[in-house]
Amino acid sequence: MELREFFEKYPDEETCIEEFKNKRLESGLDCKKCEHNQHTFRRTDLKFQCKKCGTRIGLRSGTVMENSNLPFRHWMICIELMTLSKRKFSALQIQYLLGHKRYEPIWLMVQKIHLVMRTRDEKYRLKAYTDFDSEFLKEIEKNSILQKRNNSSI
Ligand SMILES: [Zn+2]
Repeated sequence: MELREFFEKYPDEETCIEEFKNKRLESGLDCKKCEHNQHTFRRTDLKFQCKKCGTRIGLRSGTVMENSNLPFRHWMICIELMTLSKRKFSALQIQYLLGHKRYEPIWLMVQKIHLVMRTRDEKYRLKAYTDFDSEFLKEIEKNSILQKRNNSSI
């Protein structure tokens, strides 16, 4: 997908949330408590709710976005830039492109996406955004990120 198409397809946070919600439902969601696989989606607090026992799962929980407060659209744009572009973007450039005022959360997001990309590369050749599937959404080992942060000079 070209960036122009991407921005036309995902013009706002709402369309991005819709996309993530659908991707997670497509890849299958099991209730942590009763293992039922049918859920409704609560737009008010962005949570899935088990149709059987009512247990809720956050839209970000169990994904690379867990513990992040950045908008979904930031993540999607960042992944798009990092996976489709031949040019390498630094966290600073991405921060500038997103117009986000704090560097730290953007830097963390970039590190996490790098980790997912690396894990994926071991299995697949990196493909386009359309591959933003359950594999890409999977949770990243938090320790490896903390370790990286400690070793980093940033
Ligand atoms: Zn349940």
